[in-house]
Amino acid sequence: MQPTIAIPLCHEWQGAGKFYMHQPYVDRILEAGGLPILFPFLAEQQLQSVLASVHGVLLPGGIDVDAALFGEEPHPKCGEINPLWDAMDVSLVRMARGMGLPLLAICRGIQILNVALGGGLVQDIPSQVPRAIQHAQDAPRWHGSHAVHIRRDSKLASLMETSSIMVNSFHHQAVGRLAPGFNASAHAADGVVEAIESSAGPFALGVQWHPELMTARQPLMQRLFGALVEQAKLTEERR
Ligand code: MN
Repeated sequence: MQPTIAIPLCHEWQGAGKFYMHQPYVDRILEAGGLPILFPFLAEQQLQSVLASVHGVLLPGGIDVDAALFGEEPHPKCGEINPLWDAMDVSLVRMARGMGLPLLAICRGIQILNVALGGGLVQDIPSQVPRAIQHAQDAPRWHGSHAVHIRRDSKLASLMETSSIMVNSFHHQAVGRLAPGFNASAHAADGVVEAIESSAGPFALGVQWHPELMTARQPLMQRLFGALVEQAKLTEERR
Protein backbone atom coordinates (compact mmCIF):
# COMPACT_ATOMS: atom_id res chain seq x y z
CA MET A 1 0.00 0.00 0.00
CA GLN A 2 1.10 3.56 -0.67
CA PRO A 3 1.96 5.38 2.59
CA THR A 4 -0.56 8.15 3.31
CA ILE A 5 0.46 11.59 4.56
CA ALA A 6 -2.10 13.74 6.36
CA ILE A 7 -1.91 17.46 5.50
CA PRO A 8 -4.14 19.77 7.55
CA LEU A 9 -5.73 22.44 5.36
CA CYS A 10 -4.80 26.07 5.89
CA HIS A 11 -7.57 28.38 7.07
CA GLU A 12 -8.81 31.93 6.68
CA TRP A 13 -11.17 33.03 9.44
CA GLN A 14 -12.46 36.10 7.57
CA GLY A 15 -16.01 36.13 6.22
CA ALA A 16 -17.60 32.71 6.08
CA GLY A 17 -14.20 31.04 6.50
CA LYS A 18 -12.10 29.31 3.85
CA PHE A 19 -9.95 26.16 3.74
CA TYR A 20 -7.12 25.98 1.18
CA MET A 21 -3.80 24.33 0.37
CA HIS A 22 -0.82 25.47 -1.68
CA GLN A 23 -0.21 22.87 -4.37
CA PRO A 24 3.60 22.43 -4.04
CA TYR A 25 3.20 20.60 -0.67
CA VAL A 26 0.86 18.11 -2.33
CA ASP A 27 3.11 17.73 -5.37
CA ARG A 28 6.25 17.07 -3.29
CA ILE A 29 4.49 14.32 -1.29
CA LEU A 30 3.23 12.71 -4.52
CA GLU A 31 6.73 12.88 -6.03
CA ALA A 32 8.13 11.20 -2.92
CA GLY A 33 5.69 8.30 -3.40
CA GLY A 34 3.25 9.30 -0.68
CA LEU A 35 -0.50 9.74 -0.95
CA PRO A 36 -1.58 13.13 0.44
CA ILE A 37 -4.78 13.20 2.51
CA LEU A 38 -6.06 16.76 3.04
CA PHE A 39 -8.53 17.45 5.82
CA PRO A 40 -10.26 20.44 7.49
CA PHE A 41 -10.51 21.39 11.20
CA LEU A 42 -11.98 18.45 13.10
CA ALA A 43 -13.10 17.64 16.62
CA GLU A 44 -10.70 15.48 18.67
CA GLN A 45 -12.46 12.22 17.94
CA GLN A 46 -12.62 12.84 14.19
CA LEU A 47 -8.99 13.92 14.19
CA GLN A 48 -8.15 10.68 15.99
CA SER A 49 -9.91 8.74 13.21
CA VAL A 50 -7.98 10.53 10.48
CA LEU A 51 -4.63 10.01 12.21
CA ALA A 52 -5.38 6.34 12.89
CA SER A 53 -5.78 5.83 9.15
CA VAL A 54 -2.63 7.64 7.91
CA HIS A 55 1.10 6.95 8.18
CA GLY A 56 2.62 10.42 8.52
CA VAL A 57 1.86 14.13 8.87
CA LEU A 58 3.03 17.19 6.94
CA LEU A 59 2.51 20.54 8.66
CA PRO A 60 2.48 23.33 6.06
CA GLY A 61 3.36 27.02 6.34
CA GLY A 62 0.98 29.83 7.21
CA ILE A 63 0.46 32.81 9.48
CA ASP A 64 1.90 33.74 12.90
CA VAL A 65 1.39 31.72 16.08
CA ASP A 66 -0.47 33.24 19.05
CA ALA A 67 2.07 34.34 21.68
CA ALA A 68 -0.32 33.28 24.46
CA LEU A 69 0.37 29.66 23.49
CA PHE A 70 3.93 30.03 24.75
CA GLY A 71 3.13 32.29 27.68
CA GLU A 72 3.95 35.72 26.23
CA GLU A 73 2.08 38.90 25.46
CA PRO A 74 1.92 39.75 21.73
CA HIS A 75 4.83 41.79 20.37
CA PRO A 76 3.71 44.93 18.43
CA LYS A 77 5.06 43.34 15.24
CA CYS A 78 3.03 40.17 15.66
CA GLY A 79 1.12 39.52 12.41
CA GLU A 80 -2.28 37.98 11.78
CA ILE A 81 -3.16 35.08 14.05
CA ASN A 82 -6.00 32.56 13.88
CA PRO A 83 -6.96 30.88 17.17
CA LEU A 84 -8.99 28.22 15.31
CA TRP A 85 -5.99 27.20 13.21
CA ASP A 86 -3.63 27.28 16.23
CA ALA A 87 -5.94 25.07 18.30
CA MET A 88 -6.27 22.55 15.49
CA ASP A 89 -2.52 22.39 14.89
CA VAL A 90 -1.69 22.03 18.60
CA SER A 91 -4.11 19.09 18.94
CA LEU A 92 -2.80 17.56 15.75
CA VAL A 93 0.85 17.74 16.80
CA ARG A 94 0.22 16.29 20.27
CA MET A 95 -2.01 13.53 18.95
CA ALA A 96 0.35 12.61 16.11
CA ARG A 97 3.30 12.41 18.53
CA GLY A 98 1.25 10.30 20.90
CA MET A 99 0.34 7.92 18.08
CA GLY A 100 3.96 7.61 16.93
CA LEU A 101 3.40 9.23 13.53
CA PRO A 102 6.37 10.79 11.72
CA LEU A 103 6.13 14.54 11.19
CA LEU A 104 7.65 17.00 8.73
CA ALA A 105 6.94 20.61 9.68
CA ILE A 106 7.56 23.59 7.39
CA CYS A 107 7.75 27.33 8.28
CA ARG A 108 4.70 27.97 10.50
CA GLY A 109 4.79 24.17 10.92
CA ILE A 110 8.17 24.17 12.73
CA GLN A 111 6.90 26.96 14.98
CA ILE A 112 3.64 25.27 15.92
CA LEU A 113 5.47 21.93 16.37
CA ASN A 114 7.82 23.54 18.88
CA VAL A 115 5.06 25.48 20.67
CA ALA A 116 2.63 22.54 20.84
CA LEU A 117 5.29 20.48 22.62
CA GLY A 118 6.25 23.15 25.15
CA GLY A 119 8.72 25.42 23.37
CA GLY A 120 8.62 29.15 22.62
CA LEU A 121 9.21 31.50 19.69
CA VAL A 122 11.08 34.64 18.78
CA GLN A 123 8.09 36.81 17.91
CA ASP A 124 9.85 39.27 15.61
CA ILE A 125 13.36 38.63 14.36
CA PRO A 126 14.22 42.19 13.17
CA SER A 127 13.43 43.71 16.58
CA GLN A 128 14.47 40.83 18.85
CA VAL A 129 17.59 39.32 17.28
CA PRO A 130 20.74 41.48 17.46
CA ARG A 131 22.43 41.93 14.07
CA ALA A 132 19.77 39.86 12.36
CA ILE A 133 20.20 39.05 8.69
CA GLN A 134 17.28 39.35 6.25
CA HIS A 135 14.73 36.56 6.69
CA ALA A 136 12.04 38.14 4.47
CA GLN A 137 13.59 37.88 1.04
CA ASP A 138 12.58 40.07 -1.88
CA ALA A 139 13.44 37.53 -4.59
CA PRO A 140 11.77 34.61 -6.41
CA ARG A 141 10.34 32.14 -3.94
CA TRP A 142 12.60 29.32 -5.15
CA HIS A 143 15.76 31.36 -4.51
CA GLY A 144 18.02 30.41 -1.62
CA SER A 145 18.77 33.83 -0.11
CA HIS A 146 20.66 32.92 3.06
CA ALA A 147 22.82 30.08 4.29
CA VAL A 148 21.99 27.68 7.09
CA HIS A 149 24.66 25.78 8.97
CA ILE A 150 23.62 22.24 9.77
CA ARG A 151 24.85 20.56 12.95
CA ARG A 152 27.12 17.72 11.92
CA ASP A 153 25.68 15.14 14.30
CA SER A 154 22.07 15.83 13.30
CA LYS A 155 19.60 13.70 11.35
CA LEU A 156 19.26 16.65 9.00
CA ALA A 157 23.00 16.52 8.21
CA SER A 158 22.89 12.81 7.42
CA LEU A 159 19.83 13.36 5.26
CA MET A 160 21.22 16.31 3.29
CA GLU A 161 24.86 15.11 3.36
CA THR A 162 26.11 18.65 3.75
CA SER A 163 26.90 21.04 6.60
CA SER A 164 25.75 24.20 4.85
CA ILE A 165 22.99 24.92 2.36
CA MET A 166 21.26 27.99 0.90
CA VAL A 167 17.58 28.33 1.81
CA ASN A 168 14.70 30.64 0.95
CA SER A 169 13.32 32.74 3.79
CA PHE A 170 9.84 34.19 4.38
CA HIS A 171 9.46 34.53 8.13
CA HIS A 172 9.75 37.06 10.92
CA GLN A 173 9.08 34.60 13.73
CA ALA A 174 11.41 31.71 14.59
CA VAL A 175 11.90 28.93 17.11
CA GLY A 176 13.12 30.30 20.44
CA ARG A 177 13.17 28.12 23.58
CA LEU A 178 13.26 24.51 22.34
CA ALA A 179 10.55 22.03 23.25
CA PRO A 180 11.79 19.25 25.56
CA GLY A 181 13.18 16.34 23.54
CA PHE A 182 14.11 18.53 20.57
CA ASN A 183 17.46 19.78 19.27
CA ALA A 184 18.23 22.64 16.92
CA SER A 185 19.75 21.05 13.82
CA ALA A 186 20.41 24.17 11.73
CA HIS A 187 21.03 27.89 12.33
CA ALA A 188 21.34 30.98 10.15
CA ALA A 189 24.46 33.15 10.51
CA ASP A 190 22.65 35.40 13.03
CA GLY A 191 21.87 32.44 15.29
CA VAL A 192 18.23 32.12 14.27
CA VAL A 193 17.08 28.49 14.53
CA GLU A 194 16.27 27.20 11.04
CA ALA A 195 15.65 23.51 11.78
CA ILE A 196 14.74 21.32 14.74
CA GLU A 197 14.45 17.56 15.18
CA SER A 198 13.28 15.16 17.85
CA SER A 199 16.11 13.55 19.79
CA ALA A 200 13.93 10.64 20.89
CA GLY A 201 10.57 9.11 20.04
CA PRO A 202 8.89 9.28 16.64
CA PHE A 203 10.62 11.04 13.72
CA ALA A 204 9.91 14.78 13.75
CA LEU A 205 11.79 17.28 11.63
CA GLY A 206 10.98 20.96 11.25
CA VAL A 207 12.50 23.45 8.83
CA GLN A 208 11.94 27.21 8.84
CA TRP A 209 12.40 27.56 5.07
CA HIS A 210 10.13 26.37 2.23
CA PRO A 211 11.78 23.31 0.62
CA GLU A 212 8.62 22.59 -1.40
CA LEU A 213 9.33 25.71 -3.51
CA MET A 214 13.02 24.90 -4.12
CA THR A 215 13.15 21.34 -5.45
CA ALA A 216 13.21 22.21 -9.17
CA ARG A 217 16.51 24.07 -8.74
CA GLN A 218 17.81 22.39 -5.57
CA PRO A 219 16.98 18.66 -5.79
CA LEU A 220 18.47 18.04 -2.30
CA MET A 221 15.33 19.65 -0.84
CA GLN A 222 13.19 16.76 -2.07
CA ARG A 223 15.05 14.52 0.42
CA LEU A 224 13.02 16.09 3.24
CA PHE A 225 9.78 14.83 1.70
CA GLY A 226 11.44 11.52 0.84
CA ALA A 227 12.44 11.11 4.49
CA LEU A 228 8.87 11.67 5.69
CA VAL A 229 7.48 9.12 3.22
CA GLU A 230 10.21 6.60 4.17
CA GLN A 231 9.27 7.01 7.84
CA ALA A 232 5.60 6.67 6.90
CA LYS A 233 6.38 3.32 5.22
CA LEU A 234 7.85 2.13 8.53
CA THR A 235 4.66 3.23 10.32
CA GLU A 236 2.62 1.27 7.79
CA GLU A 237 4.74 -1.87 8.30
CA ARG A 238 4.36 -1.62 12.09
CA ARG A 239 0.55 -1.53 11.89
MN1 MN B 1 15.43 32.35 7.46
